[in-house]
Amino acid sequence: MNKIGKINFREIKRISPSQFYSMKNCAYKSLLAEAFEKKPLLPVSPNAYFGIVLHKMLELIAKGEVRNDDGFNKSFNEQVRSVEKTLFKNGYNFFIPLQKNVKDYGLKKILLKKHLSAMSEKPAISNDAEYHSEKWFESKDKLLAGKIDLVIITGTDLELIDFKTGAIMEDVLDDSGEVFSDVKEEYKAQLKLYAYLYFENTEKLPTKLSLVDLAKQKFTVDFSLSECISMFEEAKKLLQCTKESIVTGIFVANPTQTNCRYCLYRPACSFYQCQLNIDVYLNDVSGSLRNVVKYQNGNVSVFLQSGDKQFTITNFPAERYNMLKGSVNKNIGIYNLRKEATEFVFSSTKTTMIYE
Ligand code: SF4
Repeated sequence: MNKIGKINFREIKRISPSQFYSMKNCAYKSLLAEAFEKKPLLPVSPNAYFGIVLHKMLELIAKGEVRNDDGFNKSFNEQVRSVEKTLFKNGYNFFIPLQKNVKDYGLKKILLKKHLSAMSEKPAISNDAEYHSEKWFESKDKLLAGKIDLVIITGTDLELIDFKTGAIMEDVLDDSGEVFSDVKEEYKAQLKLYAYLYFENTEKLPTKLSLVDLAKQKFTVDFSLSECISMFEEAKKLLQCTKESIVTGIFVANPTQTNCRYCLYRPACSFYQCQLNIDVYLNDVSGSLRNVVKYQNGNVSVFLQSGDKQFTITNFPAERYNMLKGSVNKNIGIYNLRKEATEFVFSSTKTTMIYE
């Protein structure tokens, strides 16, 4: 049985542009991530792990370290092996091999390879453009820092590019209630913070901020210097608030369905636990373990009591029987379940985790 134990909160010394929006939505999540040394308490989907491979490959292609088919295949296999090794180390062997568990694995690999042909056609420095990949920038006060995927300088034009392996656009409502597609707010904020870092370090403001997806589509983000500066001020304020919360011991969280859905620290979040007692909205349940039953086919079911609600969770493998039986009458949380058609009935999946 996994246990959380005492949480030792640690100061977050600096914020990165990619972390800013998540921290803005729920700063407590960033504090938990820091406290657990960025070791997630729950597995994410195999697609997210494959995203690490895709992004690393885009970096290597942009740097010119991967320039042909052979190099691509060799690096791709190495990156997949490295992520699979980490998955194995974390006990997530059910995602291995990634090829069998990731949606559209082959298609994504083909799209990735198309970036290779585009990049191999350009030299690292050409007569009319300079390409700088993976440039690290830090603000003078050291509170904001991050790596810009690609900087392209062509004459007086200066473009910052960030690669994304997932969807860049989201549906939003305009003032009249009409739905339209726009670049995700978190990506806009991220690019504006990169622009600020670039400006502070070079005294030059980029002329264009762009996002490029796996299919090589480019999306630009409008910005102004004043917007970038105020984004930076907001990031610093946020950081300051997290520092103060550690000192005072008064924490604030924002447990909404959207925020908590991809939060991998749910088992350690007291705010989320309170929410769980009221409503089950993410296929996690918690309560007192009342009974454990093993059926003839080896499957195990558990019965939890939470207030006046009784949950049945089926389909646990037989190996978990003794561990569950030994936890009867304890309060436990069960995460990453599948909701069944009958109310209050769930089934265990390969990513289900149990915490005491
Ligand atoms: S579970 Fe929700 S409220 Fe708790 S830290 Fe994560 S995002 Fe924030």
